[in-house]
Amino acid sequence: MRQLRDGATRNIAIPFLDLAAMHAEVCAQVNASWQRIIQRADFVGGSDVEDFEHAWAAYCDRRYAVGVGNGTDALQLALQALGIGHGDEVIVPANTFVATAEAVVAAGAIPRFVDVDPDTLVVSAGLIEAAVTARTAAVIAVHLYGQPADMDAIGRVAQRAKLAVVEDAAQAHGATWRGRKAGSLADVGCFSFYPGKNLGAFGDAGAVVTDDSAIAERVRSLADHGRSPRSKYIHDLVGVNSRLDALQAAVLLAKLVRLDAWNAARRRIAHLYRVGLAPTAVRPVKIAEGVCSAFHLFVIRTHDRDGLRAALASRHIATGIHYPLPCHKQSGLRSFADEPLPVAEQAAQEILSLPMFPHMTAEQVKEVCGAIAQVSTGKDEMRGHAG
Ligand SMILES: *Cc1c(COP(=O)(O)O)cnc(C)c1O
Repeated sequence: MRQLRDGATRNIAIPFLDLAAMHAEVCAQVNASWQRIIQRADFVGGSDVEDFEHAWAAYCDRRYAVGVGNGTDALQLALQALGIGHGDEVIVPANTFVATAEAVVAAGAIPRFVDVDPDTLVVSAGLIEAAVTARTAAVIAVHLYGQPADMDAIGRVAQRAKLAVVEDAAQAHGATWRGRKAGSLADVGCFSFYPGKNLGAFGDAGAVVTDDSAIAERVRSLADHGRSPRSKYIHDLVGVNSRLDALQAAVLLAKLVRLDAWNAARRRIAHLYRVGLAPTAVRPVKIAEGVCSAFHLFVIRTHDRDGLRAALASRHIATGIHYPLPCHKQSGLRSFADEPLPVAEQAAQEILSLPMFPHMTAEQVKEVCGAIAQVSTGKDEMRGHAG
């Protein structure tokens, strides 16, 4: 028996995600590092945090990485470090984890929701440009499901409209856009290392990456009580407490050397899914030209999503929905939404995330595809693929 995220317990032949297999690979190294950290009693900051920050900046092809407490804080502090706050509008796609919009509100700014591309479900430059007003100060490009947005086109729009661009790369560790790494495609890149992400800690953690030393310094200060780099009890800014701790940094260091292999395994699984699902009526979300997705999630669309989900559950195949309610429909954020966003709203009814994790076997993928073929016997084809 396994514990599901929603708290239900049942026999699962194929889990949605298998963190234990990843942890088995790093367990010995993490144990050794944690013993060393416990002996030194050096829990906040210290050499593991510095080593991870250097390694993560290098991995992302950026000059600076600043470890923070989680991905939501990474976004909030990045916006604040860019000088964005009260009265500023920040463009955010409606189809994302709620944290993207939450961080805008936490920074004191106003989220302006835009729709997403009907094929990729990722935000596009055209949708952003149409939402720019005199008060727009920034856009957060979310690399949803592991697929980077079209950052060249978004960069051009941002330049024309003088917007700062923040990447929400919380689902896109190691993904590339035209050969360049997610996190290196705009002014600032933000990552979450929540346990279920492609690079996950044993708890909450996050990072901000940038090539701009002033932004890096401001994020570091804001994340550490606005502390001056010159003196421990001099506070230049009003900040927060959102630091990466040494125990988590040690986990991330141990996992980072395996990230590329794990992402490659995810891409192989995605390929097997595409081939295996081709004869069925369900449609995988498209991956754009020039994108190398990190496949944090493998998302398909189907008209009878809830029926398919229930049928797979009865075959002990776990699935997820990312996300069942778009951000602009969430009670806490509805006051910021002024118009319907039909693509995101329709997608929320049709999307289903299939099991996806690096240690998933080809047999398991085959079993999922076989079950989908059995369940969706052509009834979607008859209704057509529009919408
Ligand atoms: C996970 C996630 C976040 C938030 O990260 P936390 O570490 O949970 O705060 C933000 N944006 C997206 C797209 C995410 O998937």
